[in-house]
Amino acid sequence: MKYTGKYKKMADNLREEGYDEPTIKELIQYEIERDNYLKMHDITELEAARVWQQIPEDVQRRILKNAYCVKCGSTTFTEKYNLRNNFLGIQVNGYCSKCGGRITRVVEISES
Ligand SMILES: [Zn+2]
Repeated sequence: MKYTGKYKKMADNLREEGYDEPTIKELIQYEIERDNYLKMHDITELEAARVWQQIPEDVQRRILKNAYCVKCGSTTFTEKYNLRNNFLGIQVNGYCSKCGGRITRVVEISES
């Protein structure tokens, strides 16, 4: 498998550390998927992304479907949203699927 840029560098480092090729492939695949995920969702805060990814997918969906817009009342987020750290947990910033206006929602994270 040929890697380029940062993935090549990562592969070289892993080889130096003595990892075998299947493991390297797996780790790099994971890294690529993670990067794509972050790009897709315009996530700039990695810590918020890490916390968000620990939330089960069905709970994530419920959060995104349960938003409030000042114009439309209860609404859902569009696909494009980003995540920020918030003192309560994480803040989801996105757009109302009804009017396209900006909406935001704080997800409280309890460390347990
Ligand atoms: Zn709206």
